[in-house]
Amino acid sequence: MAESQLIQKIGFVLLLWFFSYNLVSAKPELGWSRKAAAEAEAIALIYCSGHGQAYIDGNIVDGRPSCECNTCYGAPDCSIFFSNCTANAESGDPLFLEPYWEEHAASSAVVVAGWHRMSYSTTGENYITIELERHIRMLHFAVGNAVTDGRFIVFGAGSTQLLYALVHALAISHNSSLPASVVASVPYYAPYRGQTEFFDSKVAEWRGVTSEWVNSSKASSNKVIEFVTSPNNPDGLITQSVLNGSSSIHDHAYYWPHFTAITAPADEDVMIFTTSKLTGHAGSRFGWALIKDESVYNATVTYMEMNTMGASRDTQLRMLKLYKAMLAEIQREGDIFAFGYKTMRERWSKLNQVVSRSKRFSLQKMTSQYCNYFNTTRDPSPAYGWLKCEREVDRDCDAVLRAGGISGRSGTIFSGDQKHVRLSLIKSQDDFDQLLTKMAALVS
Ligand code: PMP
Repeated sequence: MAESQLIQKIGFVLLLWFFSYNLVSAKPELGWSRKAAAEAEAIALIYCSGHGQAYIDGNIVDGRPSCECNTCYGAPDCSIFFSNCTANAESGDPLFLEPYWEEHAASSAVVVAGWHRMSYSTTGENYITIELERHIRMLHFAVGNAVTDGRFIVFGAGSTQLLYALVHALAISHNSSLPASVVASVPYYAPYRGQTEFFDSKVAEWRGVTSEWVNSSKASSNKVIEFVTSPNNPDGLITQSVLNGSSSIHDHAYYWPHFTAITAPADEDVMIFTTSKLTGHAGSRFGWALIKDESVYNATVTYMEMNTMGASRDTQLRMLKLYKAMLAEIQREGDIFAFGYKTMRERWSKLNQVVSRSKRFSLQKMTSQYCNYFNTTRDPSPAYGWLKCEREVDRDCDAVLRAGGISGRSGTIFSGDQKHVRLSLIKSQDDFDQLLTKMAALVS
């Protein structure tokens, strides 16, 4: 074969390889998602002075979504601070994690096609996306905060929906006399009582505080459903079931390394978790229950079937993306728990410093503890300050704080006393800074 023919042949083979390689490995040019992505990024660029956010579905001013300013900030770009405004430490809005997700914009953004999962059904039974369930189990394993082996999972529209689903399921399973008695230890998260009274069903009745049922003959004749919140909302303390033999619902909304030491995987029969206090996405309304007993699981599924036919498939998609992003960074530089713990510890320490300047107020006592997740002893970093007014004259602590420009949540809302107020430490940095400023003024 002539030399020129050989060169021609090699050239042809190379050309063929080049085209076939590019055909197989080339990424498709962005088409229909490009406009949506551009819109999302354009909104994210709207400048709100670091004191607000603009959202795609925000109010339209001058043809584009406007800034939604943090409390005490105003003007179209949120640049004006109103110093005489009340510091808002009331709700459990977990915005302390917003900066984390801004730093992880690329790994957490999700594109939702117009035809994404239009059906009622999804990949798993009972409207559950199997991949999401798998990632939740992986997350618990990676954090070491709950046993998931041998547990069924039910998804809910926030753990709020699951609270009463579980009351109902526990009440009707195991053939005991109805109505079941629902109790909790003071101070407790108000919706346990609120929901039981509001739904006012034949199967469950609110029967007050757990301590009244210890050693009581009522406890043995009736079925008792005990809510156990650990760490507790409002005081952040680790708690355990008080009534032996009762059916307990263990609400572990705050059992994540942001807020407490992980000392052992939680292993109770009925456990609840929520994304609201894990990733901070309270608005997505997503929570899950881990259930050991199959009949309780089946009863919970029936309740959810009657109620909503499962958690939103769009929300499940978003959750999957967020959990994947978190898992990819676990024990690495971008670890969400390292970020959350650092933020919460700093806030708790600053609030303590201010409060300890006088004897007028005190905070719950918390100690350092060894954490299996961080492999070290860690300082306290609770979600809330459980503040007490120590002076005799300050009978209504909430009123004292309000007069000082702080709105918290009175202890009475948690069936506690008027001497206590819950101060939320999980809101935005602006909210926390304002709380600290007003608290410092009150103390001095
Ligand atoms: N349980 C506890 C103890 C809570 O503090 C909260 C939220 N504040 C919830 C449940 C409900 O959370 P969500 O419905 O947002 O999942």
